[in-house]
Amino acid sequence: MDIEVFRPRYEIEECLTEIRECLTEGWTGAGFKTSQFEEAWKFYTHLPNALFVNSATSGLHLAVKALKDRRGWHQGDEVVSTPLTFVSTNHALLYEGLAVRFADVDDSLCLDPDSVESTITPRTKAVMYVGMGGNSGRLDEIIAICASKGLDLILDAAHLAGTRVNGEHIGPGASVVVFSFQAVKNLPTADSGMVCFTNPSDDEYARKLSWMGINKDTYARTQGKGSYKWMYEVESVGYKYHGNSIMAAIGLAQLRYLDRDNAYRRQLARWYDDALGPSQRVVKIPITVGCESSRHLYPVLVDNRDEVVLALNSAGIAPGVHYRTNTDYPMYSYGAGKCPVAEDMSRRLLSLPMHLGLGFDEISYVASTLVSITERRSVHV
Ligand SMILES: *Cc1c(COP(=O)(O)O)cnc(C)c1O
Repeated sequence: MDIEVFRPRYEIEECLTEIRECLTEGWTGAGFKTSQFEEAWKFYTHLPNALFVNSATSGLHLAVKALKDRRGWHQGDEVVSTPLTFVSTNHALLYEGLAVRFADVDDSLCLDPDSVESTITPRTKAVMYVGMGGNSGRLDEIIAICASKGLDLILDAAHLAGTRVNGEHIGPGASVVVFSFQAVKNLPTADSGMVCFTNPSDDEYARKLSWMGINKDTYARTQGKGSYKWMYEVESVGYKYHGNSIMAAIGLAQLRYLDRDNAYRRQLARWYDDALGPSQRVVKIPITVGCESSRHLYPVLVDNRDEVVLALNSAGIAPGVHYRTNTDYPMYSYGAGKCPVAEDMSRRLLSLPMHLGLGFDEISYVASTLVSITERRSVHV
């Protein structure tokens, strides 16, 4: 079987125990396990609020929509973002009619603070930052820029479950942090995510939006009186974005192992580091000093990437590419040519297999195969 880039691994018995509780209780929807998981996530990250949603994509949309409504942003107001990401990041901004202004990345694959600063205009309302592969990049500088200019900071933390910076879980300093618990992410469910606002009233607003705009407080009040239990108020045109108890059940079980699993991912990364050695043809991505990365990805840069991928495929290795620059896609093509570093990386990036089913032997095989492919190629060229 091929060595795949990702493969989720579940604590099956513990997941089933948690799921069985939902089925026994007759409660699979929002509430019950979703509340337990929100509490557990706040305890784990030390972030003040947590709203469990059905995906990070929904969560990013909810985050953007809540900030836009509550801050009074208008159609066409700008958000500075990265072109080197999964399209969810930027689609969330387009859903709300905001203008995506691309800044370039640095050698961490994350936004370059200097480029962000020069991309900000009087219409800029926020910065959207992605911690690529688990790396924090220069997030501290981005936080300082946003603070000094009065901009909101949205952190797409899809790769950052368990990433710590100077011993503290990443997230403080952003207006909102959005995690993904999609199956191939570090805390796998099937599909779900968590939205963590700094401000409790942003959380409260988004919570209503996540369930059709229904005001659950009113519902709770009427329920308390013992009559009109069916009654609720609808305050806005919300969405069906909340998470369910089956996903939360899996999340609760998996969360117990997140630190252990991320530590193993860092071990895999060290094995790659050693096995790739100082090869000039396989360029590693530096992890920021002070960052204990979740190591969602192990990205490298190689020349002739597409041919290298085909050669790896022939050797039974199926790497990934995270990501193509979003300016390759029609809705973002207006940004082509503006982010030369991201565009160059987009052509050279490769994500080596990184998951809990791998061991030293597979890592050694992938690394030595990659090194020999790139060396062979450079001899022929
Ligand atoms: C996976 C991912 C998302 C979307 O997460 P879902 O939970 O699948 O919606 C968003 N941004 C980045 C950077 C991702 O990797």
